[in-house]
Amino acid sequence: MPRWVRKDRRIYDFSLCTYCGTAWGGYPNRQCPSATCRACGTTQCLGNGLENGTCAVCSIGLLPGWSSSNGWLCGYKGCGRDAVARVGGQAKFACAEHLARNGKADYVARAVAERDLAWTEVA
Ligand SMILES: [Zn+2]
Ligand SMILES: [Zn+2]
Ligand SMILES: [Zn+2]
Repeated sequence: MPRWVRKDRRIYDFSLCTYCGTAWGGYPNRQCPSATCRACGTTQCLGNGLENGTCAVCSIGLLPGWSSSNGWLCGYKGCGRDAVARVGGQAKFACAEHLARNGKADYVARAVAERDLAWTEVA
């Protein structure tokens, strides 16, 4: 599955992933597992996960596979649907609908629109 990688990545001899060049993980086939952001839909190296397991492109979307990203429900009152992003504040997590309602979906859309600047998709 094609995935997005940072254009400025460097692949070293000690890199444990031949996509992103991270020395993190240690997968025997030298590829991080891929993960698709639940908010912006960007498929990327699981090792991209920022602090808290959020997407490196939109910064708030949850990357499935991080223990800190799994099993969260939307924190908006009376909602309880599966969360797609970490939004902080009292709700902490939001589903797609609440992400749109609180305006953060625009932020995610902008990150996707500008993705080509720093990221490139590789097979
Ligand atoms: Zn990787
Ligand atoms: Zn994302
Ligand atoms: Zn919700």
